[in-house]
Amino acid sequence: MHCLKMNEYRCLSMQYEQSRGTHISDGSHLFQRQKLLIQKPSLQKMSTTVQIEYKVASTQLKTAYGTFDFQCFSWGPHEEDNVLCLSNLSNSPSPPICRLQSACYTAEIFRSLDCDCHEQLQSSLEHIAKGGGLLIYMLCDGRGAGLFTKTLGLELGRIEGLDTSDAYARLGVPQDPREYSRAAAVLRHLDIPRVRLLTNNPRKIAGLRDHGIEVQREALEICATTDSAEYLRTKAQKMGHLIQQFCEDKS
Ligand SMILES: [Zn+2]
Repeated sequence: MHCLKMNEYRCLSMQYEQSRGTHISDGSHLFQRQKLLIQKPSLQKMSTTVQIEYKVASTQLKTAYGTFDFQCFSWGPHEEDNVLCLSNLSNSPSPPICRLQSACYTAEIFRSLDCDCHEQLQSSLEHIAKGGGLLIYMLCDGRGAGLFTKTLGLELGRIEGLDTSDAYARLGVPQDPREYSRAAAVLRHLDIPRVRLLTNNPRKIAGLRDHGIEVQREALEICATTDSAEYLRTKAQKMGHLIQQFCEDKS
Protein backbone atom coordinates (compact mmCIF):
# COMPACT_ATOMS: atom_id res chain seq x y z
CA MET A 1 0.00 0.00 0.00
CA HIS A 2 1.35 3.41 -0.97
CA CYS A 3 1.84 5.70 2.02
CA LEU A 4 1.16 9.39 1.67
CA LYS A 5 2.90 12.03 3.72
CA MET A 6 0.75 14.48 5.64
CA ASN A 7 1.21 17.34 3.14
CA GLU A 8 0.26 15.00 0.31
CA TYR A 9 -2.92 14.11 2.15
CA ARG A 10 -3.65 17.80 2.54
CA CYS A 11 -3.00 18.36 -1.16
CA LEU A 12 -5.31 15.52 -2.19
CA SER A 13 -7.95 16.76 0.19
CA MET A 14 -7.76 20.25 -1.29
CA GLN A 15 -8.02 18.88 -4.84
CA TYR A 16 -11.06 16.87 -3.79
CA GLU A 17 -12.70 19.92 -2.20
CA GLN A 18 -11.89 22.06 -5.23
CA SER A 19 -13.35 19.44 -7.54
CA ARG A 20 -16.59 19.77 -5.55
CA GLY A 21 -16.55 23.54 -6.05
CA THR A 22 -15.82 24.31 -2.38
CA HIS A 23 -12.81 25.47 -0.45
CA ILE A 24 -11.28 24.40 2.84
CA SER A 25 -12.25 26.69 5.70
CA ASP A 26 -11.71 26.81 9.43
CA GLY A 27 -15.42 27.60 9.83
CA SER A 28 -14.74 30.89 11.60
CA HIS A 29 -17.36 32.66 9.47
CA LEU A 30 -19.97 30.29 10.92
CA PHE A 31 -19.77 31.22 14.60
CA GLN A 32 -19.92 34.31 16.79
CA ARG A 33 -17.49 35.44 19.45
CA GLN A 34 -19.27 37.08 22.36
CA LYS A 35 -18.40 38.99 25.49
CA LEU A 36 -20.93 39.25 28.25
CA LEU A 37 -20.98 40.89 31.65
CA ILE A 38 -22.53 38.64 34.28
CA GLN A 39 -23.06 38.83 38.00
CA LYS A 40 -21.15 36.21 39.91
CA PRO A 41 -21.90 35.56 43.58
CA SER A 42 -18.92 35.39 45.89
CA LEU A 43 -18.55 33.43 49.13
CA GLN A 44 -19.73 36.45 51.11
CA LYS A 45 -22.95 36.53 49.03
CA MET A 46 -21.77 39.84 47.53
CA SER A 47 -22.08 39.61 43.78
CA THR A 48 -19.35 40.85 41.50
CA THR A 49 -19.58 41.66 37.82
CA VAL A 50 -17.25 39.68 35.60
CA GLN A 51 -16.72 39.61 31.86
CA ILE A 52 -16.88 36.24 30.19
CA GLU A 53 -16.00 35.33 26.63
CA TYR A 54 -17.35 32.48 24.62
CA LYS A 55 -18.11 31.30 21.08
CA VAL A 56 -21.52 30.29 19.74
CA ALA A 57 -22.17 27.99 16.78
CA SER A 58 -25.77 27.61 15.63
CA THR A 59 -27.66 25.29 13.33
CA GLN A 60 -31.00 23.49 13.20
CA LEU A 61 -31.47 19.97 14.47
CA LYS A 62 -34.26 17.69 13.31
CA THR A 63 -34.95 15.17 16.08
CA ALA A 64 -37.48 12.48 16.89
CA TYR A 65 -39.27 15.10 19.04
CA GLY A 66 -39.31 17.91 16.50
CA THR A 67 -37.00 20.45 14.88
CA PHE A 68 -35.04 22.71 17.24
CA ASP A 69 -32.68 25.63 16.91
CA PHE A 70 -29.45 24.09 18.16
CA GLN A 71 -26.58 26.08 19.62
CA CYS A 72 -23.24 25.07 21.04
CA PHE A 73 -21.81 27.63 23.48
CA SER A 74 -18.09 27.08 23.90
CA TRP A 75 -15.96 28.36 26.77
CA GLY A 76 -12.82 26.37 25.99
CA PRO A 77 -11.20 23.55 24.05
CA HIS A 78 -12.55 20.64 26.09
CA GLU A 79 -15.88 18.95 25.51
CA GLU A 80 -17.06 19.76 29.03
CA ASP A 81 -16.50 23.47 28.25
CA ASN A 82 -19.46 23.33 25.87
CA VAL A 83 -23.05 24.00 26.88
CA LEU A 84 -25.75 22.99 24.40
CA CYS A 85 -29.08 24.66 23.84
CA LEU A 86 -32.07 23.22 21.95
CA SER A 87 -34.80 25.78 21.59
CA ASN A 88 -38.21 26.33 20.07
CA LEU A 89 -38.88 29.94 20.95
CA SER A 90 -40.82 31.20 17.92
CA ASN A 91 -44.25 30.74 19.50
CA SER A 92 -43.29 30.11 23.09
CA PRO A 93 -45.29 31.78 25.86
CA SER A 94 -43.35 34.20 28.05
CA PRO A 95 -41.62 33.43 30.30
CA PRO A 96 -40.58 30.31 28.39
CA ILE A 97 -40.40 26.80 29.75
CA CYS A 98 -36.76 25.91 30.37
CA ARG A 99 -35.19 22.60 31.25
CA LEU A 100 -31.66 22.74 32.62
CA GLN A 101 -30.12 19.28 32.49
CA SER A 102 -26.61 18.00 33.05
CA ALA A 103 -25.33 14.92 31.31
CA CYS A 104 -26.08 11.42 32.51
CA TYR A 105 -24.35 9.35 29.86
CA THR A 106 -25.12 6.04 31.53
CA ALA A 107 -28.88 6.58 31.31
CA GLU A 108 -29.14 8.88 28.30
CA ILE A 109 -26.81 6.93 26.00
CA PHE A 110 -26.64 3.42 27.45
CA ARG A 111 -30.14 3.42 28.97
CA SER A 112 -29.10 2.33 32.45
CA LEU A 113 -32.19 1.98 34.62
CA ASP A 114 -31.02 3.33 37.97
CA CYS A 115 -32.21 6.93 37.52
CA ASP A 116 -34.82 9.01 35.70
CA CYS A 117 -32.47 11.18 33.61
CA HIS A 118 -33.36 9.71 30.21
CA GLU A 119 -37.08 10.06 30.91
CA GLN A 120 -36.65 13.64 32.16
CA LEU A 121 -34.76 14.56 29.00
CA GLN A 122 -37.33 12.87 26.78
CA SER A 123 -40.28 14.43 28.57
CA SER A 124 -38.69 17.90 28.44
CA LEU A 125 -37.93 17.73 24.72
CA GLU A 126 -41.45 16.50 23.96
CA HIS A 127 -42.86 19.38 26.00
CA ILE A 128 -40.61 22.00 24.35
CA ALA A 129 -41.21 20.67 20.82
CA LYS A 130 -44.95 20.93 21.36
CA GLY A 131 -45.39 24.05 23.46
CA GLY A 132 -42.15 26.01 23.01
CA GLY A 133 -39.25 26.69 25.32
CA LEU A 134 -35.65 25.62 25.57
CA LEU A 135 -33.38 22.94 26.97
CA ILE A 136 -29.94 23.90 28.26
CA TYR A 137 -27.69 20.87 28.46
CA MET A 138 -24.46 20.94 30.44
CA LEU A 139 -21.84 18.37 29.47
CA CYS A 140 -20.89 17.43 33.01
CA ASP A 141 -21.86 14.03 34.36
CA GLY A 142 -22.19 12.84 37.96
CA ARG A 143 -23.92 16.07 39.12
CA GLY A 144 -20.81 17.97 38.07
CA ALA A 145 -18.36 15.58 39.77
CA GLY A 146 -17.51 13.81 36.51
CA LEU A 147 -18.12 10.37 35.08
CA PHE A 148 -15.13 8.81 36.83
CA THR A 149 -16.38 9.83 40.28
CA LYS A 150 -19.90 8.79 39.35
CA THR A 151 -18.63 5.33 38.40
CA LEU A 152 -16.86 5.01 41.77
CA GLY A 153 -20.12 6.00 43.46
CA LEU A 154 -22.12 3.45 41.46
CA GLU A 155 -19.65 0.73 42.46
CA LEU A 156 -19.90 1.73 46.14
CA GLY A 157 -23.65 1.35 45.72
CA ARG A 158 -23.26 -2.08 44.14
CA ILE A 159 -20.77 -3.59 46.57
CA GLU A 160 -21.64 -1.79 49.82
CA GLY A 161 -25.23 -0.72 49.27
CA LEU A 162 -24.44 2.98 49.70
CA ASP A 163 -26.93 5.40 48.20
CA THR A 164 -25.68 8.17 45.91
CA SER A 165 -25.53 10.68 48.77
CA ASP A 166 -23.52 8.45 51.10
CA ALA A 167 -21.28 7.30 48.25
CA TYR A 168 -20.30 10.90 47.41
CA ALA A 169 -19.75 11.60 51.12
CA ARG A 170 -17.45 8.55 51.33
CA LEU A 171 -15.52 9.80 48.30
CA GLY A 172 -15.19 13.27 49.81
CA VAL A 173 -17.16 14.85 46.96
CA PRO A 174 -19.81 17.56 47.47
CA GLN A 175 -23.34 16.24 46.90
CA ASP A 176 -24.06 18.50 43.95
CA PRO A 177 -21.06 20.57 42.82
CA ARG A 178 -22.72 21.87 39.66
CA GLU A 179 -22.31 25.56 38.91
CA TYR A 180 -24.78 27.49 36.80
CA SER A 181 -23.02 30.65 35.58
CA ARG A 182 -22.70 29.31 32.03
CA ALA A 183 -26.36 28.27 31.93
CA ALA A 184 -27.28 31.77 33.09
CA ALA A 185 -25.01 33.21 30.39
CA VAL A 186 -26.88 31.17 27.75
CA LEU A 187 -30.15 32.71 28.95
CA ARG A 188 -28.60 36.20 28.94
CA HIS A 189 -27.29 35.60 25.41
CA LEU A 190 -30.80 34.69 24.29
CA ASP A 191 -32.21 37.74 26.09
CA ILE A 192 -34.30 35.58 28.45
CA PRO A 193 -34.29 37.15 31.94
CA ARG A 194 -36.97 34.90 33.43
CA VAL A 195 -37.97 31.26 32.94
CA ARG A 196 -40.41 28.63 34.07
CA LEU A 197 -37.88 25.98 35.07
CA LEU A 198 -38.79 22.32 34.68
CA THR A 199 -37.07 20.86 37.73
CA ASN A 200 -37.42 19.12 41.06
CA ASN A 201 -34.05 20.39 42.26
CA PRO A 202 -34.09 23.54 44.43
CA ARG A 203 -30.34 23.97 43.87
CA LYS A 204 -30.93 24.62 40.17
CA ILE A 205 -33.49 27.29 41.00
CA ALA A 206 -31.09 28.93 43.45
CA GLY A 207 -28.19 28.54 41.01
CA LEU A 208 -29.94 30.53 38.29
CA ARG A 209 -31.33 33.09 40.73
CA ASP A 210 -27.81 33.67 42.06
CA HIS A 211 -26.92 34.81 38.56
CA GLY A 212 -29.85 37.18 38.24
CA ILE A 213 -32.37 34.98 36.40
CA GLU A 214 -35.96 35.07 37.67
CA VAL A 215 -37.24 31.53 38.12
CA GLN A 216 -40.69 30.01 38.58
CA ARG A 217 -40.68 26.26 39.18
CA GLU A 218 -42.59 23.73 37.08
CA ALA A 219 -42.49 20.17 38.42
CA LEU A 220 -40.99 17.43 36.27
CA GLU A 221 -41.85 14.21 38.01
CA ILE A 222 -41.20 10.80 36.47
CA CYS A 223 -42.87 7.75 38.00
CA ALA A 224 -40.33 5.66 39.88
CA THR A 225 -39.60 2.15 38.69
CA THR A 226 -38.30 -0.80 40.72
CA ASP A 227 -34.79 0.12 39.53
CA SER A 228 -34.95 3.90 40.03
CA ALA A 229 -36.96 4.09 43.27
CA GLU A 230 -34.00 4.07 45.66
CA TYR A 231 -32.15 6.78 43.73
CA LEU A 232 -35.23 9.01 43.63
CA ARG A 233 -35.97 8.40 47.32
CA THR A 234 -32.41 9.43 48.22
CA LYS A 235 -32.74 12.61 46.15
CA ALA A 236 -36.02 13.48 47.85
CA GLN A 237 -35.11 12.58 51.42
CA LYS A 238 -31.41 13.46 51.59
CA MET A 239 -30.85 16.04 48.86
CA GLY A 240 -34.02 18.10 49.11
CA HIS A 241 -35.46 17.31 45.68
CA LEU A 242 -39.16 18.07 45.40
CA ILE A 243 -40.33 14.62 44.34
CA GLN A 244 -43.87 14.18 45.55
CA GLN A 245 -43.74 10.36 45.40
CA PHE A 246 -41.03 10.33 48.07
CA CYS A 247 -41.53 13.50 50.09
CA GLU A 248 -42.27 12.54 53.68
CA ASP A 249 -44.75 15.40 53.94
CA LYS A 250 -47.14 14.81 51.05
CA SER A 251 -49.45 17.68 51.91
ZN1 LIG B 1 -28.95 9.72 35.69
